[in-house]
Amino acid sequence: MSDHPFQAFIELISLDQDIRTVHREIIQIQQSTEKHLAEKQEVVGRLDQFKQHVHELRKMVDTQELEMKELDQQEKAQKDRLDSVSNAKEHQALKKEIERFKRAQHEGEVTLMSIWNKLEIAQKELTEQQTAYNAKIEELHKIIHDQQEKITGLQQQLVEKKNERPTKESGIPQDWLDKYSHMRMQVENPVVPVERGGCSACFYTIPDQELLRLNRRALVQCKGCFRLLYAREAMQDKQVEDESAK
Ligand SMILES: [Zn+2]
Repeated sequence: MSDHPFQAFIELISLDQDIRTVHREIIQIQQSTEKHLAEKQEVVGRLDQFKQHVHELRKMVDTQELEMKELDQQEKAQKDRLDSVSNAKEHQALKKEIERFKRAQHEGEVTLMSIWNKLEIAQKELTEQQTAYNAKIEELHKIIHDQQEKITGLQQQLVEKKNERPTKESGIPQDWLDKYSHMRMQVENPVVPVERGGCSACFYTIPDQELLRLNRRALVQCKGCFRLLYAREAMQDKQVEDESAK
């Protein structure tokens, strides 16, 4: 057992607090990574949706162009027939038909122009979006990658710190360790100093008899919150004595 069991005990507690801090940090980074992954998915989804929109417009242009071509052919066919028709009535009917095709062609032209315009604007916007998309994806990849590296580093730290525990524990009375291991599952600060005759965590007033024990450097369990209590001055005196005894 160490010459400074209380010092060793405080070191173990502080090691455990470090372990908890590192662990919490890992969880925070993991949560942040998840948010970034979700953001990436959203960015990808948005671009896909816009690509789909451009694709639909192009399909509309193709359909309209095909329709125009058919109208052209139909008009041409009617014109060819016009030459071979001698009947005036029939001739008149054909001419009317050709007029109708011309009007349809004109209307089709207007529609085609308007879709073409939309497509052109959308394509331009897609190019801009693609540039912004590439930058955003690269930024997100970098963040996620950095976070992964940080997590790996922290996990390594966690392993090292956990490996230190047995050595730290070796200098501490088993009785303290038992009480501590029970308490540290339940609270973040399982060992607290006495302040003004009371527990500094729950303010429970400590009976005089227990205060005497505390002043004799005992660890006492708080009746209010069950944390382990120690008297700061008594423990400091002990350390000073121990130091001078070397
Ligand atoms: Zn207490």
